[in-house]
Amino acid sequence: MHLDGLTFCGECYRRDGYIHIRAKCAYCDEEREYNINNLLTGKSTRCHCRRRVKYDDPFAEVFGERFDAIKQRCKNSNNKDYGGRGIRCHFENREAFVRYMIALCRESYPDICTVEELRAYDIDRTDNDGHYTPGNVRLVSRSQNLSNTRRTRFIRYNGREVAASHLWHLLKNDDPNLPFSCAWVAKLAKQGLSGEQILARGTEGKRQGGRRATRPQWVSVAILWLYGLLRKRRKADG
Ligand SMILES: [Zn+2]
Repeated sequence: MHLDGLTFCGECYRRDGYIHIRAKCAYCDEEREYNINNLLTGKSTRCHCRRRVKYDDPFAEVFGERFDAIKQRCKNSNNKDYGGRGIRCHFENREAFVRYMIALCRESYPDICTVEELRAYDIDRTDNDGHYTPGNVRLVSRSQNLSNTRRTRFIRYNGREVAASHLWHLLKNDDPNLPFSCAWVAKLAKQGLSGEQILARGTEGKRQGGRRATRPQWVSVAILWLYGLLRKRRKADG
């Protein structure tokens, strides 16, 4: 039996039809209960606290717990916001989820430095109708998440997440000439445009009378011209 820092204390005993034993962890000094069967088959080899060592990141434990909770609420068909609505967790397994979240957190949320800070955040789906899947998860502060019901959609503007229902008023305030209606702004936001991009599209539309730029054509003309020059030069060298 390979045990990472576990020392048994006391005798085996039966509980809920399984044989258990208590063991103390040399790393965190905590005494916990272990299922004998899991120890014999190698399913458990160490204390919870050693889980994060696999990832070499203190955030691993938090994300692991979150994964368990997500699995739980997606499995529960009585939960009308998750399982009952058909929301699923499409991450391959716990480890894939933990590794993805650590990378996402370290890369996109540099403000979260300690485990305590991380615990103030929830894992949320960017598209509230989508599943828990790579690309559709993000971290939101707990207070922000509580107001993020199924009906509220958030759009990035001025470095903040703004409720979709407020976006048009904010944009109209910053650019009174914005040529879009409230419904059109909502539609653009739903397509994934940020507040800044919607503003830019408004001014672009006005300047060019709603027509697209013709720059790509000029680029290809320039490439053809360069190509001709090169051929001429190569002929001269040969
Ligand atoms: Zn431990």
